Formats: sequence, C-alpha cells, structure tokens
Amino acid sequence: MQIKILGSAAGGGFPQWNCSCANCRALRAGTFHGKARTQAQVAVSPDGRAWFLLGASPDLRSQIEANRELYPREGVRQSPISGVLLANADVDHVLGLLLLRELQPFRVHAAASVQRILRENNSMFAMLQRVQNQVTWSDFQPGQEFPLCNAQGEDSGLICRAWALSEHYPAYDSANRRLQLAQSEASVGFFIAPSKTNTASRAQLAYFPAVPALDDQLISELENSDVLLFDGTFWSDDELSRVQGGGQTARQMGHIPVEETLVRLAELRRPRKIFLHINNTNPILDETSPESRQVRSAGWEIAEDGWQFTL
Ligand SMILES: [Zn+2]
Repeated sequence: MQIKILGSAAGGGFPQWNCSCANCRALRAGTFHGKARTQAQVAVSPDGRAWFLLGASPDLRSQIEANRELYPREGVRQSPISGVLLANADVDHVLGLLLLRELQPFRVHAAASVQRILRENNSMFAMLQRVQNQVTWSDFQPGQEFPLCNAQGEDSGLICRAWALSEHYPAYDSANRRLQLAQSEASVGFFIAPSKTNTASRAQLAYFPAVPALDDQLISELENSDVLLFDGTFWSDDELSRVQGGGQTARQMGHIPVEETLVRLAELRRPRKIFLHINNTNPILDETSPESRQVRSAGWEIAEDGWQFTL
C-alpha cells in the first residue's frame, strides 16, 4: 500500500488568507523557520495505479497537479482517482468533491448520515449527479470492514474500517436535520490495510485527523497500526484565544491538543507517529520552537506536504 500526504494543514491552510498571527506573518515575510502547507489531504493506493482520496480538500486541484501519480494516464479524459472516502461532512473535508465535477466517474464511500447532509441538504452537490454513472455513493457503518471500490464496483485490494469519534455534525447543518442523523456517523477515523494478506500480519494505516478524545480502546487499536496520521491541529487547548483574544477551545472544536496527545500516546510502540492537520497558529510549525523540539524528542514527526510511504 502506498500513502501520500498531499496536504498537511488544518482548514484555512498555512498561511491562512485572513490571518496575521505570528506564524502566518513570518511565513509571508520570508523569516519563518518552517514550510507553507495546503489543507489536509491524504491519498492511498494498493498498487500505485488506482488512488483513493481520504476526504476531498478545498486545495485538491493544486494538490493533484503537484503529484504526477494523480495525472490522467490514457485517453483524453481519465483519472487514476478511483474513489473518495469521507470521514465527516465538514466543509474543509468535502469541498474538494465539487472540484471533481467534470463528469469523471468515481465512487464516494461515506456514512449514510454524511450522504444525507451532502445530497439532500446541499443542492450544489447535484453537480456530481448530472449524468448517469457519474458519482456512485456507497454506504458504510462504523466498526464494519468494507472494501474500497472503484466506480464500477471492483474491489481495489484495500480494506477499510471506520471508527466512530464524535457526535458533532458541521455547524452549517440544521438542528432539525441533526435529529434524523445517527450520532455514531458524524465523524470517524479510518483503519486501512491491504486485504490480500492475512489479518494478523497485514500492514495498517490509521488516519485520525480530528480526534476529540482518546480512550483506552482506541489507543489499543492504534497500537496495531504501522503508520499513524493523527490530529495535530492545536498545540494547547487555549491556543486560539491566546493568539486572537477569543474563540473556541481546541476541545470545543473537536481536537485533543498535541501537548495532551504526547502524554496519552507516549506508550505507543508499533506505529510511526505523525501529526497532520496542523492549524496555522500551532507553534510546532516553527521548526526552531521548543514545542516542535518537544514533539520530535517524543518520537513524533510533523507532516509536510509531499511526504509518501510504502507499507
Ligand atoms: Zn495564522
């Protein structure tokens, strides 16, 4: 299995268009000790030919152009992108679907509740259904394994399992609609592995970019993974209020702070541990900061756009 990090920042990217925090200001001034980043986007492939997107970032167009594995290969209209896997209905996670509206068939794997929000409440997504067999939607339930399939329904050789994480639907969703949705489907993380090897020995990716809290059951599941891409949104719970003088806490926004994750996941041994989905205000973006050093000395890495691994 191949894994590519196309984008490693949280929503808004780094720098963010309306932000003049110390990080964004220094980056624009050319004095920052760290890299710019596009909004979180990961792609996985069983064979380097067919690719599945984990979410669909608002930066997807430029991310595809920056990664030649995702270029069309044959004919006038073609794409190696076989499908998209949705963890939630957040704008930063689904907006890129609208950038894939040029009548190219692909499959979207999404929980039924997420599909209802996008397809029944947001008429713009009808752009993905303009012709027959354009986008095919597949349902999954948290906790059950399912194969990632292309538009024609062919099994890619990758198997996935969603892990329920949060009961909070996006703020744009109406209160009435929320009453009709399954709480366990609001936001999930994913375990993805090649399906051809046996369960005990197969290499596994854990994709968890938005984690509100950690419990012992999830921690023991994460220990069974080889690469962990984990929520690196905020360093501290009060980061936004310290930077901009107000705003929600990290936890209120559904993100466990990095400084707490370092303690809670200190015992993880098997996976390569990587923080992803990093907000522009996070001090770990500055490679010379004490927070960045603390993360690295704890055995974690800080994702950058363009990283890739083979499992
Ligand atoms: Zn900023």
